[in-house]
Amino acid sequence: MPEGTLLAPSLSPTNEFPMTVPCPQCWDLVETKVEFSAGALTYFLAILLIMFGFICFACIPCCVNVCKDAHHFCPKCHYCFGVYKRLNLSQLQEDAIGALGLK
Ligand SMILES: [Zn+2]
Repeated sequence: MPEGTLLAPSLSPTNEFPMTVPCPQCWDLVETKVEFSAGALTYFLAILLIMFGFICFACIPCCVNVCKDAHHFCPKCHYCFGVYKRLNLSQLQEDAIGALGLK
């Protein structure tokens, strides 16, 4: 690592709202640009709607941002700060293992 190089701060977004953070790539203080994409919760809700017979409404979770994961980007250099996952399956798995005392 060259002298004077600073490490990028690790950041895991905790919500879908834009945050003001220093960008580790362009070194500017920026407000993150948030883009939404389908995640685990989107598909989970769509499957639930299909299972309960609401096939016609199964596409709604794919159209509504509150059901999607939020990706935080730098508006200047498009660096990805992280993703806020509404349904984090790996975290659920860790919580279940911890609750059952299997760790
Ligand atoms: Zn940037």
